[in-house]
Amino acid sequence: MPWYKKLHAKILIGMFLGFAFGLMSSMLGWNAFTDRWIAPWGSIFVNLLKLIAVPLVLSSLIIGVASLSDLKKLSRIGGKTLAIYFCTTFIAIVIGLTLVNVVQPGKWIPENVKNEILSSYQGDADSKAGLAVQSKDRGPLQPLVNMVPSNILQAAADNSEMLKIVFFAILFGIGILQVERKKAQPIIDFSQSIFDVMIRVVDMIMLTAPYGVFALIASTITKIAGNDIASVLHLIGSLSAYCILVIVGLAIHTFGVLPLALKLFSTMNIKTFFYGMGPVQLLAFSSSSSSATLPLTMERCEEKLGISEEVSSFVLPLGSTVNMDGTALYQSIAIVFIAQTLGFSLSLTAQLSIILALVLSSVGTAGVPGGSIVMSILILESIGVPAAGIGLILGVDRILDMCRTVTNVTGDAVVATIVASSEGQLRTPNLSEEGDGMVLRR
Ligand code: ASP
Repeated sequence: MPWYKKLHAKILIGMFLGFAFGLMSSMLGWNAFTDRWIAPWGSIFVNLLKLIAVPLVLSSLIIGVASLSDLKKLSRIGGKTLAIYFCTTFIAIVIGLTLVNVVQPGKWIPENVKNEILSSYQGDADSKAGLAVQSKDRGPLQPLVNMVPSNILQAAADNSEMLKIVFFAILFGIGILQVERKKAQPIIDFSQSIFDVMIRVVDMIMLTAPYGVFALIASTITKIAGNDIASVLHLIGSLSAYCILVIVGLAIHTFGVLPLALKLFSTMNIKTFFYGMGPVQLLAFSSSSSSATLPLTMERCEEKLGISEEVSSFVLPLGSTVNMDGTALYQSIAIVFIAQTLGFSLSLTAQLSIILALVLSSVGTAGVPGGSIVMSILILESIGVPAAGIGLILGVDRILDMCRTVTNVTGDAVVATIVASSEGQLRTPNLSEEGDGMVLRR
């Protein structure tokens, strides 16, 4: 197959053209056109992916848990998954805190630039702070309460409530394990059929990925640049040390720590892993949403990397909601950077004390664009730094969001690979491109 027909290449071309179009649109004042005629195609593409997320997660988790044959196996795989998720997130935070303390990017921002940025993003910062106050008022156990749905249909109606769906599906799966097999089989078969159909729907949606990605990138660039590219470049220039630090940290984690973990704890070839995950990473970058990327992550992990359905259907949906290495790394840098810029000196002990808050915040962050902003405000307030400081980083947040989402989805797939390998559930990867695109079956 010629290179330009491969999914990776098609998505990359879409991204590149989207970037060029977005820049042109800002420079020539076509923003209204892009907004009205191009951006909606990006929204349709992301909506299509989100549309199948709930049935996919529900059916896959039900099959995943029910096929674990007994509760002992469930707790073994579940325990292993959560432990590795915790370790990788912890390492990400340590990388972030180390970099921000060594480089100290906050010390390089001149006073006038700081005030200028703070005043131009004050409105946005205030509205995010308002959201943070609402969640803080509900008390420290609220994240736990948020996990348990009181009505499954209501939870299923909101994609940002994925943790509730995960909770229900695991509970339901455990229920299945307690019922006589003969009685449980129809519901397992039904879930299996839904799952198989959904995976084929992912193939269909991915046929439109290059166009969807073009529209997403074009509209993101237009939104970031507005009609005044010069002032955006000025903002990025002022915050360049911070942005570069976040990107370097994410690169160390994504292309250093995670592959090392694969090498040490799995039989997966690293090149094969990144080749199989390429389209997933490109989609995560373009959409800034790990929830929207989940259907493709599951499809590629099973069909290309050879991870068994039993493991991927349990580990990946859980990971897309609770495991966010990129978000944790970014937040650790962002919070200390804001404190440094505003002149608050955070002792090392104070910084170590927020590690738990950073881990919990990455668990509670929804896999949507900008999902972690409200959480960052809560952490800022908990260490006595004014929430308005978030205004310093809002202007460049979308760019960093694209990068951290890539790390988030890569982390989930690495953990799924390690768990599958340790359980003897990793088949030989199949990277042939035949599976890309729609397969018609009778
Ligand atoms: N956009 C990120 C994700 O979907 C969440 C965040 O860090 O804002 O994974």
